[in-house]
This record gives sequence, C-alpha cells and structure tokens, in this order.
Amino acid sequence: MRPDLRRFRIKSLVMLVFSGLALVLWLPIYVYINHGYVKQLVNDRGEAMHDLASAVAAVLGDNLHERKRELSLLAQSPYFRNAPLGARELRQHLERIQKSYPHYVWLGVVDTEGIVRSSTGDLLRGVSVRHRPWFDRGKEQTVAGDLHEAMLLAPLLGIEKDSEGAHLIDFAAPLLDEQGRLRGVLGAHADWGWATDVVKVLYPAGIARSQVEVLIVNRENRVIHPHRYNSPLQIPVTFPLDQNFAVARGQDGKDYLNSSAEVRDDEPGRSLGWRVIVQQPCERALADVAALQRAMVASILLTTLVFVGLVWWGSGRITRPLRLLASQARKIEQGEVSVPPVTEALTVEVHDLAEALRGMAGTLLDQRRDLADNNLRLERLVAERTRALEIANEELSQIARQDPLTGLPNRRAADERLRSEFVRMKRSLMGYAVLMVDIDNFKRINDRHGHAEGDRVLSGVANLLAVSLRESDFVARFGGEEFLVVLPDTDLSTATCVAEKLREAAEVAEDPHVGRVTMSIGLAMASPAHVDEREVLRLADACLYAAKASGRNSVVSDSLSAGHVGNS
Ligand code: GH3
Ligand code: MG
Ligand code: MG
Repeated sequence: MRPDLRRFRIKSLVMLVFSGLALVLWLPIYVYINHGYVKQLVNDRGEAMHDLASAVAAVLGDNLHERKRELSLLAQSPYFRNAPLGARELRQHLERIQKSYPHYVWLGVVDTEGIVRSSTGDLLRGVSVRHRPWFDRGKEQTVAGDLHEAMLLAPLLGIEKDSEGAHLIDFAAPLLDEQGRLRGVLGAHADWGWATDVVKVLYPAGIARSQVEVLIVNRENRVIHPHRYNSPLQIPVTFPLDQNFAVARGQDGKDYLNSSAEVRDDEPGRSLGWRVIVQQPCERALADVAALQRAMVASILLTTLVFVGLVWWGSGRITRPLRLLASQARKIEQGEVSVPPVTEALTVEVHDLAEALRGMAGTLLDQRRDLADNNLRLERLVAERTRALEIANEELSQIARQDPLTGLPNRRAADERLRSEFVRMKRSLMGYAVLMVDIDNFKRINDRHGHAEGDRVLSGVANLLAVSLRESDFVARFGGEEFLVVLPDTDLSTATCVAEKLREAAEVAEDPHVGRVTMSIGLAMASPAHVDEREVLRLADACLYAAKASGRNSVVSDSLSAGHVGNS
C-alpha cells in the first residue's frame, strides 16, 4: 500500500529521506568495522602474540642450551678433569662462574657417591644429593632438570618460600678424568628469576598496560612462570592446526586470546616439555576496536546531526516561499484579492509558481474590476428599466381608467372613485352627491345622423360636463351615453343646483348638426346610513329612471335624500 504522502510536510519528508540515506551510507562502514576489521585485528593480535611466544620460547631454549654448554665446557676443562674434588681452588673457580651469571644460586661438585665435595659458599658441602634426579642423570650426560622447589638450599640461602628464587632449575654435567672415567658430577642450580628476565627483555613495556600475560607451563600444563607456581593453567587451549592462536573462555568467564610456542632444548627424547603461552583478554585486545566503534558512533551521530541540521535548514529555506505562496493563495481564496509581493525564490519551480500566482491574482483582480463595472452598469440599467416600467404601468393604468372617446375617466375609474368617496365619507361623515346623467333619445341621434355624429355628440356632452363642474368634482363616462358625476362635500340643495345647471347647459347648447340635446339626471345623496357605495348608485339610477319616466330632460333626486323631484 502506498503511504499517503500528503500528510507529510516536504521538510519532514526530506529529513526522513536524508536521515535514511545517512544511515544507509554509514551502515556498511559500521558493519565492516564490526566484523571485517575485528577479524583482521584478532588475526594480527594473535600472530603478534604467537611471535612473542615463539621469541620467549626460543630465548628460553637458547638460555637452557647456553647453561648446559657452559657446564659441559667447564666439566671438560683440564682443571676440572684433574683437580681434587675438594680443592679450595675448585670452589673459587665455581664462585667466579657464579658471579659471571647472577641467576646461579649454587654450583657444586659431587663425587660419584653423591656427596657434595666442593660448592659455592661451601653450601651443602658434605651433604648427599645421591637421590636427586640431576645427580643420576648428570652422571651420563649434560642435562637440564625440571623446575623444583629449593628444598635444601632455601633455608641456607635465606630464600623466601613461594618467591621466584625459591624455585630452581638444575643443570648437571659428568666430570670425567683424562681417561674418560667418571670422577663425579658438576651441578648447578639457577634461580627461576631468569625466566622473568627473559620475558622482560623480550616484552619490556606494556605488559601490564595491555594485560598481556606471558606464562610458561610444564609438561603437565602447570604454570611455572610467573608467580602462580605449579597452579593449573586457567585457560586450557587447543590450537587449530592452521592457526597459531585461539580464543578460549577462562574460568573467570572472560574470553582470552591465546597463543603458544614450545620451548625446544637439544636433549633428544628428554625434552622438558615446556611451553610459553601468551594470553590477553579479548576485551583488551579489541579495546582499539571498541574505541574505534565509539569514535565511529560519535562521528556518525555528529555528522548525521550536522547533516540533518543542514537539510532541515536548507529544506526550510526552500519551502518557506512555498508556505508564503500557500498563505497568499489562501488569502485570495478568502476574497482578499491583491497581487502578492515578489517572493524571494531559491528555485526555478518556486519562482515560476510565484509568478503564476501573481499573474493569477492580477487576472482575478481585473476580472473583479470588470465584474464590479458590469454590476454597476447592470444596476443602472435595471433602475432605468424599472422606471420605464413604472411609467408604462402608470400610463397603462391611466389608459385602463380612461375612456378613449371622451377622454373622461371610464367605468373602472368611476367605481374606484365611488368606493373611495364612500370610505372617506364614512370617516369624515361629510356626505356627497351622485348624479347619473343619461342623454335623452340618443339612439335617435345615431339613427338619424350616423354613429360618428353620435360619437361627436357624446364627446361634446362630456366636454360640457367637464367644464361645467368644479375641479374637485368628478365626472366619468359610465356606460354608452351615461355619465356619472360625484360631488364631494356637497349637500342636496347644492347638488340639485349643480344637476340643474348641467341639465340646463346641455339644453341650451344647440348643436349645429343635431340640434338640441337634452339629458335626464338622477341624483342621490350618500349618507353614512347607506350600506355601501353601490346602494347610493342604485338610488341614483332609480332617480334617473324616474326622470326618464317623467318625460326626460329633468332632474330627479332621491326621495329619501330630499323628496325633491325637479324638472324643467
Ligand atoms: P332614452 O331617452 O330612453 O334614454 O332613449 P335613448 O335612445 O337615449 O336610449 P336607448 O337605451 O334606447 O339607446 C341608447 C343608444 O345609445 C343606443 C346606442 O346605439 C347608443 N350608443 C351607445 N353608445 C354609443 C356610442 O359610443 N356612440 C354612438 N354613436 N352611439 C352610442
Ligand atoms: Mg341610456
Ligand atoms: Mg338615453
């Protein structure tokens, strides 16, 4: 499954990648040091230890051989062949030799019975050493005996028990006379300090520091050097054939690097069987590796830290303009349109993005301005159109309420006026008069003079009514040749006068073509007692009817209003 990288910031991703890279780069080096280098180091150390062991073994062997050669030469010297065994000069001779080699603690001449006849410092003189192995073996050939405790000599020499001097190595050579007969045995005891000297000469410094231990063990694998005399070897080691060294676990639980070399002496079949073993705790042998590992880890951490810090800083610098651009884009998204300032961009891509954003904001700004201009224009247009519509509506409303022939308000306008007048009266309690005016025998005019003449007469009557009335009065063409007149705030007598005046005006106005045109008028006074305006209208209509019935060209008032019926 692919990880959703959108949850990560570029900075974190770059950090992750570079940290991983640093790890991948360091890992092989670290693994090489931990395995390859350690192996190499163990090998080098092992070989170096084997060289040391071999050198110590060789020097020890040479030393043994040297001592044996010295005794052999001494025994074969003419003086030792002939001098009496107890001679004073013999003793002095022995003491000179002792002085020439400080590790000789004792030299002596023993007769064939095993009695010490002459010795350095006269020590053990007259004492029998018949049962000592060196005596037996020394009768036959020059020998070096194994290390042993200085049982007889220690008290005489004042040697402390368990000290290096308390252990001695024996040398013996047969003393022969001129004829080759055995006269006795020349014996010598060297203290074991010479082993320490050999080791010190070969590995003088750093033994303690590097915890390298040089041991000498005898045939029974018991330590004879340095200080754990006769103790068993702590780390029994067997070495592979192809290898001069091996790693073995000691009784202390630690791993030790071991190497060994055999001490060769020239005694055929009677080798001492000594071995030199060199040991070093692996921990110490690999101390350099541990130090290197620590240094490695420290440098890995440090360089990774510096590297990651640099990456953090660098990616921050690269992504900062991006974050800036994102915040600018967000502002634009929220409507705050303004061209963003020039962004300091480190890369071409960011520069391009910033320029694109600036371009986009510029375009948006232009579009917004255009939109605002268009809106303004549209609003003006809408206002103009609305005004025109209102005017048209007004005109339409006027047309709808105007009689086209006479130019007077029509029936619809008359109804509205009647309604509003009635409402006003209810409020003010001031009555008004309603006149229903009808042209008498109009049909005849049409019939006689034609419809067009009829129309002309109609217009003439309308005009007459209009000019005869006050400004505040209302006149409308109510039907074919019927007119309605409303006289606001008018009492019956005034209304009757007005009606009469109208009737008379028509009567007296002689038309040049059709002659005299008369009108009948029904008059009703509106009062708050009436149910509605229609009731008043019906009364006026009834009066008109009555006027017609009474012979036309007359005014009839609502009897309830005035009871007056006029006619002329
Ligand atoms: P009356 O005295 O009883 O009112 O008799 P009249 O003839 O006036 O009444 P009638 O109801 O019998 O006839 C009315 C006539 O008016 C009939 C009709 O042709 C005519 N008229 C109605 N409107 C118009 C119009 O707009 N122009 C013309 N020329 N004639 C019209
Ligand atoms: Mg009529
Ligand atoms: Mg009529």
